Amino acid sequence: MSISEKAKMIIKDVPKNVKIIAAAKTRSPEEIKEIVGAGIKNIGENYLQESEDIILTLNEDIEWHFIGHLQKNKVKKVVNLFDMIQTVDSFSLCKEIDKRAKSINKFMKILIEVNIASESNKSGVLPEKAENLIKDISFFENIEVLGLMTMGPFVEDGELLRPYFKKAKKLFDSIKVQKIPNINMKYLSMGMSSSYKVAVEEGANMIRLGTILFGERKYN
Ligand SMILES: *Cc1c(COP(=O)(O)O)cnc(C)c1O
Repeated sequence: MSISEKAKMIIKDVPKNVKIIAAAKTRSPEEIKEIVGAGIKNIGENYLQESEDIILTLNEDIEWHFIGHLQKNKVKKVVNLFDMIQTVDSFSLCKEIDKRAKSINKFMKILIEVNIASESNKSGVLPEKAENLIKDISFFENIEVLGLMTMGPFVEDGELLRPYFKKAKKLFDSIKVQKIPNINMKYLSMGMSSSYKVAVEEGANMIRLGTILFGERKYN
């Protein structure tokens, strides 16, 4: 099946309220164009170095999502190039994003990344600290908090992630009901190729798909 056939199949398969992000790390501009042509116009990138030229050359109607680990020294460029940053997990990162966004008159859409299984050496704010982080950053004027993102442990069987997805949805809802000023809990971004069905069942309304759309990644 071609990339565009796979994309069309997934679009059909997933409920209409679920936003599909094509996770495009290691993929060529041609592959990204094919996905966009098939109707997936939200593209996720992990690495600034790899994506900068691609973003600047593809002048199609694409929404770019930063989904990789974000270092402070990359914030300026990432704020410039991307429409949403999904991997924000600290106050200091928010402060830098706000500063850089302010300097170019942009309102930067972000998601807070949660380390939902509290794994050591994994990025994301701990679940019990997410609410306070969101309250602390709610006053930043050039940041628009739009929800939560989570990865969950690396497992092959997506079904094993169900308890973590449940936990993430519960956390998402518990923050949402508080109606914190300037916080718009709209998106819960969770689920990848092997787990998106489970994630959607558990309340994800944004999923990030790589392999299932583009095939296995080839690293050189
Ligand atoms: C690569 C990646 C995905 C997609 O992974 P697949 O298993 O290929 O679907 C989703 N989210 C993030 C943050 C990624 O880096």
